[in-house]
Amino acid sequence: MTQALSYDDVVARYEPVIGLETHVELGTASKMFCGCSTTFGADPNTQVCPVCLGLPGSLPVTNAAAIEYAIRIGLALNCQIATWCRFARKNYFYPDMPKNFQISQYDEPLCTDGWLDVDVDGDTVRVEIERVHLEEDTGKTLHVGGATGRIHGATHSLVDYNRAGIPLVEVVTKPVTGVGARAPELAKAYVTELRDILRTLGVSDVRMEQGSLRCDVNTSLRLLDTLALGTRTETKNVNSLRSVERAVRSEMVRQAERLDAGERIVQETRHFQEDTGRSRPGRSKEEATDYRYFPEPDLVPLAPEPAWVATIQAALPELPAARRRRLAAQLGASDRDMIAMSNTGVVDLVAATAAAGAPAAEARNWWMGHLAQHANSADIEPAELSITPEQVARVIALVADGTLSTGLARQVVDGVLETGKDPDQVISERGLRTVGDADTLGAAIDEAIAARPDIADKVRGGKVAAAGVLVGAVMKATRGQADASTVRALLLSRLTGG
Ligand SMILES: [Zn+2]
Repeated sequence: MTQALSYDDVVARYEPVIGLETHVELGTASKMFCGCSTTFGADPNTQVCPVCLGLPGSLPVTNAAAIEYAIRIGLALNCQIATWCRFARKNYFYPDMPKNFQISQYDEPLCTDGWLDVDVDGDTVRVEIERVHLEEDTGKTLHVGGATGRIHGATHSLVDYNRAGIPLVEVVTKPVTGVGARAPELAKAYVTELRDILRTLGVSDVRMEQGSLRCDVNTSLRLLDTLALGTRTETKNVNSLRSVERAVRSEMVRQAERLDAGERIVQETRHFQEDTGRSRPGRSKEEATDYRYFPEPDLVPLAPEPAWVATIQAALPELPAARRRRLAAQLGASDRDMIAMSNTGVVDLVAATAAAGAPAAEARNWWMGHLAQHANSADIEPAELSITPEQVARVIALVADGTLSTGLARQVVDGVLETGKDPDQVISERGLRTVGDADTLGAAIDEAIAARPDIADKVRGGKVAAAGVLVGAVMKATRGQADASTVRALLLSRLTGG
């Protein structure tokens, strides 16, 4: 085994080329070609019928909702929608596929030639989409008796066909080049953006951990300053956003080590393993000809009416990127601010707080500062804090009208988080109100001056900075309930007559 290369060594000499194939289980009520339910988690083999079990004589019928969902996805990814296309049989033999072929699309996909702009570290990278096509999912195989859950060492296997026939959309990118060291980050950012779009479109629940969004990552390396493309591998089973990034990174290092040792890269399927962050080899990759594709004879061609496509286009919801741009303008936030808010998970919360009447900058300060710290120390998302944007806006308004000092406002927010009560209730129960009246403050100020005549003289002599000591004494005397800027102004006017 060669010494492990560092990632920096790899990208100093090699250019990564990546491609992403994302499978999305659509959230239709019934399967792609039959009326069986698609509900997740049912008892094995309770959601099956002659069609999805591939029994002789049964005939598939296309699910119109699945077609519409696929077109929605294609339009959101700026694709051309075919006016005529067909399903194809992809022939292979595997126990989780009862028909021994999968109905998919081959050379006539429903959507082609799109793109998705992805933000990587403040830069926009355009990822070209080659195709978006429809197919059906396979069943699930469970190997029993072995230590690892794999077929090796198992005494027997169980097959569950509930998932067989669930509509699946595959989104395939063109090869992405020219991003160098940022390839792993880009891969993660692409899948994240795609997931957010799919969620916004309402076409899937996009749960990677349940397999409704699955990503295969193609990776190859090419020596810098050469034109020859390297051999690619396909890493499967990448089941979290974090793993997408790790899978690309680890495969780049693995390939560079082989190439440095003078070995060839084998074109193969590899399986990503969450526990080690590495992949192990699977079967060597079949060529398309091995699948003996031919047009599916049991289904009529798909010919979406342009008027229907136009209706779907017109009904598309506001997509995440457009929404981010709109919110950035509304909140007066820079790209950097938006990225920071997005990374902290507070964009929606800041927008809702501003919508409830707070100045956007104040709303951002609260959610990015005090509230984000609370969420962080409780190890939860800011959205899970027990305070609403309306309550935050109320606290901000109370600071603006002088009822609360900044320090008191934090105490009020903490009270809301602890008790779930409204800010006004917390204020009255805990007596958290700024001491604003001149008599009470005046007495505290007189005491502070009397206690430190030396400091008072310095301030009278023009050393205004020294006043901080006196302000501190007044704040202490009023148990933090005075407004510091008011105290300061009163002190200076008393001592300097200004
Ligand atoms: Zn069925």
